[in-house]
Amino acid sequence: MSEAEIIDGKAFAKRLRDRVTVAVATLKADHNLVPGLTVVLVGEDAASQVYVRNKGKQTQETGMISDTIRLDAATPEQELLDLIEKLNGDDAVHGILVQLPLPDQIDEAKVIAAINPDKDVDGFHVVNVGRLWTGATAPVPCTPYGCLQMLKETLGDLTGKRALVLGRSNIVGKPMAALLLNEHCTVTIAHSRTVDLPERCREADILIAAVGRPEMVKGDWIKPGATVIDVGINRIEAPEKGEGTTRLVGDVDFESAKKVAGHITPVPGGVGPMTIANLLRNAVIAACRQNGLDAPDL
Ligand code: NDP
Repeated sequence: MSEAEIIDGKAFAKRLRDRVTVAVATLKADHNLVPGLTVVLVGEDAASQVYVRNKGKQTQETGMISDTIRLDAATPEQELLDLIEKLNGDDAVHGILVQLPLPDQIDEAKVIAAINPDKDVDGFHVVNVGRLWTGATAPVPCTPYGCLQMLKETLGDLTGKRALVLGRSNIVGKPMAALLLNEHCTVTIAHSRTVDLPERCREADILIAAVGRPEMVKGDWIKPGATVIDVGINRIEAPEKGEGTTRLVGDVDFESAKKVAGHITPVPGGVGPMTIANLLRNAVIAACRQNGLDAPDL
């Protein structure tokens, strides 16, 4: 039996970043507008430090103005809210991203609600969640939108396909379901209380795994020929590579899944690279909208 075609997220992300770079240059040349993206990091979380560094680097590479504001882990909630208010009022800042998770003394929901929805490049503000579910124009969460782009470029029209989204978080599962519904898929959202999960998965033409459980989805959960998008990023021990070594795996058991699926994203190198590329896309679109310009087709 032939193996699944690998969906190369790195290559998709590179093409998207290239389109963003061209759009930034055009905005500068035609409108003297340079999109600005500000990332706020509170505390010392190691993974967040890496994400924020990568976001800053890639933002600069596109020609946008990148600013990273680092705050102490003990920063009071009100200080962060005051900073957001200042950024909301700064015309040179078109996108604001507060890196999650936040320290315990800060209420994440309150912080997200404080961001001007038009500058909310993560698409997490309730106004943008509402816009997404009602089919209105909105900044769309970066990870699920990246999944959708890869699906559409791989499969074309998604109308009528049966999609199963495994996971119902606000940042991945739910917006992913909304996006697939907007593409006229028949969508099932599965979660930890779903009964007969493998059977539900086997019904899907498109299977999106966003659970955070290493290699949970096995090959025999997959409908032959289905397209599998693995959002999971899990670090597990890898004694085969030496003591104390770790490696990244997804929520899908890649080795068994690739023997059954028609297309599949790898981990790493699948969904991950699309997330930052879409953050850049959202920042350019936000800058256009805030300046009354048509957003480029990215
Ligand atoms: P959450 O922990 O917020 O949500 C996990 C979801 O999976 C929940 O809805 C939960 O169900 C469900 N779930 C957990 N265990 C099971 C189970 N045994 N059976 C069925 N469903 C289960 O995770 P996120 O959505 O934030 O992230 C999911 C994964 O995606 C993680 O590995 C994360 O690292 C990765 N990720 C990757 C990104 C990227 O850029 N590639 C970006 C964001 C996340 P319930 O609601 O019932 O508890």
